[in-house]
Amino acid sequence: MRHGAKAELTASVAIESAPAPWTGALIPLGGIVFVAVRAATRRVVTAPRWAFCTRCRSLRYLRMAAGFVLIGLMLAFLVVGLDAADTSYAGPAEHRSSWWAFAVALLAGVAGWIILVVSRWQSIARARLSRDGLSVDVRKPSVEFAAAVEAMWAPNTGTLPAVARPA
Ligand SMILES: [Zn+2]
Repeated sequence: MRHGAKAELTASVAIESAPAPWTGALIPLGGIVFVAVRAATRRVVTAPRWAFCTRCRSLRYLRMAAGFVLIGLMLAFLVVGLDAADTSYAGPAEHRSSWWAFAVALLAGVAGWIILVVSRWQSIARARLSRDGLSVDVRKPSVEFAAAVEAMWAPNTGTLPAVARPA
């Protein structure tokens, strides 16, 4: 419902909570600490049949393709870097300098990883679980999505907890 277009497919979407702001303060302590605390504090719900239109599917495949191309670039530049770092390399001396190849590999790897993260259905749906795990927030919902949520919950106001709300 990101585009307000007709739903063409549904997918099972694992929706996780955003990291608490204070966990960002752990990043200077090292990635491992952050990842461990994040794993311990995050919540996940699975929406078994979230609706997507064909544009959502194209967007997902486009991002996945871009992500894998970048990961491929990372591997290619790692090979170039390792090859150039080889002291028995017989080619011109200036080709032996490998730091730039490793730098490009690092950049491509980070960019590819980020793009693969946003290619997940959760990111395509712009859905996020609230930190208390009780509601799902949809960022920038289409008018049609907001209307559908309103219509779904209006008769039940006060009797059921809201499971989806436009943020
Ligand atoms: Zn869509």
